Amino acid sequence: MTTEYEQMWKGLGLDLAAHDELLQVLGKGYQDIFLSQSDRPKGMDYFNFVMSEVHGLRVKELLDGKREGHKVVGSFCVFVPEEIVRAADATMVGLCTGAEFATEEVEKVLPRNTCALIKSAFGFKLGKVCPYIESADMIVGENTCDGKKKSYEVLDTLVPNLYVMDLPQKKSNEGRALLRAEYQKFKKAVEELTGVTIDAPRLKKGIEIVNNKRKAIQRLSELRKADPAPISGLDALLINQVFFYDDPIRFTDSVNKICDELEERVREGKGVFPKGRPRMLVSGCPMAVPNWKLPWIIETSGAVIVGEESCVGERGTRNQTDVSGSTLDELMEAIVDRYFKIDCAIFTPNPDRLEHIRQMSRDYRADGVIHYGLQFCQPYQIESLPVERSLEKSGIPTLRVDTDYSMEDVEQIKTRVEAFLERIGIPACSVCRCS
Ligand code: SF4
Ligand code: SF4
Repeated sequence: MTTEYEQMWKGLGLDLAAHDELLQVLGKGYQDIFLSQSDRPKGMDYFNFVMSEVHGLRVKELLDGKREGHKVVGSFCVFVPEEIVRAADATMVGLCTGAEFATEEVEKVLPRNTCALIKSAFGFKLGKVCPYIESADMIVGENTCDGKKKSYEVLDTLVPNLYVMDLPQKKSNEGRALLRAEYQKFKKAVEELTGVTIDAPRLKKGIEIVNNKRKAIQRLSELRKADPAPISGLDALLINQVFFYDDPIRFTDSVNKICDELEERVREGKGVFPKGRPRMLVSGCPMAVPNWKLPWIIETSGAVIVGEESCVGERGTRNQTDVSGSTLDELMEAIVDRYFKIDCAIFTPNPDRLEHIRQMSRDYRADGVIHYGLQFCQPYQIESLPVERSLEKSGIPTLRVDTDYSMEDVEQIKTRVEAFLERIGIPACSVCRCS
């Protein structure tokens, strides 16, 4: 892949040596974590291909699209409404935030104690290794947590095309009014960027495309309720991660195809692990590519992950946008309705999230919840304590894991996860496939 796309990466201003290094690490990680799993569904071949071409073919498609007039909008948050971007024939992509890179450079512009997700976004930019950020015609930041809010002031000095969206912190009428006003402003900014006037038919089409993508993911989630689980949590997470990069229509088809296969597995009682394997729900901060550390630890410690209460997971895909409206105002209102339900920990208070975690534990028949907090992420780390207290009170065993993107704490986390499985009565021999 390297030589084939070298000109393209050079044209985007990437540091080829550093980029090569990143691809090598990514490729090795993917081999060790994903390709080493057994009994993977055949439909994962497509996602293997996407991952092998994540900096190649997909970027080429975006650049080809740009030549035909389709703009690229990069985003860091599930509050950025893809429906509006789609309505203007533009493409939205999630920007890389899942790995450490160029840490020394990052710490010259951000404090050391900034969460790994924010540092990662800066590392990919400063290290010149992200073809997505370099392809984007508009980069959308959002005033969610303090870390992001303040770091966008710094990012604004590093990129020429940052657009910052304000977001509410409270689920009040005033909060809703703010979200509505911000989405109207965003629509205008997208229209200015693309030269396309968004009317009702266009917005309806945008909503349908994004709804279909979410519907396919919801179908996948539904299948994960089976015991034995027909797909590993790692593979399901990967599909949720690819959600943010791939062409939406092709992605929807590929997820539906794998779901057909998984339905067959469920009918035949076949699973990727033996029936009765302890089932875990992972809840907390989002896990962007290639942040696979915790799921990998969990699934190599004798459990299977059956759901993600996360923005790269059910928090991001749970609700659909009502497409029944016929006017632009009605459709815009439906978008506000849909996104205002997202229960990110930046909201105060945030009781819906707690109820959703409980509901998911029941629906997915989880034996326990592992709460994942990124170090220095105040919203999720602070919220993890009441989450733990309340789940334990309801009889749902909970383990809080605070970590970052380094591999230094792998052994320590593994020991804690194994002890947690033991605490909830999981026999040590469940790791093998003898049952
Ligand atoms: S956790 Fe909150 S800030 Fe982060 S992507 Fe999700 S909604 Fe956005
Ligand atoms: S992980 Fe936490 S601190 Fe980091 S960007 Fe998301 S909400 Fe902010």
